Amino acid sequence: MSTRREPNQYAMQNPLTQYPRPPFPDQPQSPPGIDQDMVPKPDHGEKSYQGFGRLEGRKALITGGDSGIGRAAAIAYAREGADVAINYLPSEERDARQVIELIEAEGRKAIAIPGDLKDEAFCVQLVRSAHEQLSGLDILVNVAGKQEAQKDLADITTAQFDDTMKTNIYAMFWLCKTAVPLMPAGATVINTASIQSYDPSATLLDYATTKAAIVAFTKALAGQVIGKGIRVNAVAPGPIWTVLQPSGGQPQEKIPTFGSQVPMKRPGQPAECAPLYVLLASQESSYITGEVFGVTGGNPLP
Ligand code: NAD
Ligand code: MG
Repeated sequence: MSTRREPNQYAMQNPLTQYPRPPFPDQPQSPPGIDQDMVPKPDHGEKSYQGFGRLEGRKALITGGDSGIGRAAAIAYAREGADVAINYLPSEERDARQVIELIEAEGRKAIAIPGDLKDEAFCVQLVRSAHEQLSGLDILVNVAGKQEAQKDLADITTAQFDDTMKTNIYAMFWLCKTAVPLMPAGATVINTASIQSYDPSATLLDYATTKAAIVAFTKALAGQVIGKGIRVNAVAPGPIWTVLQPSGGQPQEKIPTFGSQVPMKRPGQPAECAPLYVLLASQESSYITGEVFGVTGGNPLP
């Protein structure tokens, strides 16, 4: 076993004080935002995540793999022994480069495939290209998402509504549709829902609608593909400290107190989501499909 890394996310400790608590500084960015410019910097497990060979030799495609929750999953997968392809928007290249270096530092293959998931042809090409460059595809992780807060229904333009639906639902549909025929028995799909799937904020009407749809899609697809030996599950995070939030995901005045509304009184870190993405990808979760798992700081899923 390799030496422990710091901060040690495996040592028993009080979860309330394990990570930064509000207040946080104002830090507006324009979407999709750059993760490494956040204050304080999110923890994606760069220094802490320790692999145990749970994904040895697996081949994974992770959308939104440049930053936040997707970055944490990418780091964890590489440390568990997987080769990883990540997708992100071209404007996020600076974040993506760091992730590519972190994957390669584990001696794993890292493939960068930037592009816009709102485009069906790109989604098809993304899966085919990842499958070809990784010489197979065992794990599809849909993490990319668009969240743009609006206080009034009148302020949600048709263009915004379209973009939120395309990014959060259509892309998942196109990617799954292309990936499933290429996947072997034992493969897994992991979607990213939200506490918003069940308890929508008034300011996140279009976003919460997509997150509820992701839960239904996950369960329906799980029922369809289990006959092929493919499992499909979802992770539903609560407030997580990622650049999605200060780049328009929340009204800016909510950033200083972000996370204070949950029982743990702090946002979660991407590193605290990664272990679920690993579990659901690994054979350890062999009897689990069609489920949604919360990482919410104490607001349980219904
Ligand atoms: P993030 O900003 O780090 O990740 C979102 C990613 O989505 C971006 O990095 C970007 O690469 C990708 N993306 C957005 N539009 C895209 C497009 N058109 N084409 C390609 N890629 C695109 O933030 P995050 O919080 O890690 O978000 C990851 C997922 O977690 C999202 O699905 C989000 O809805 C979900 N989530 C986040 C929270 C939270 O509080 N942060 C809570 C619940 C669910
Ligand atoms: Mg990003």
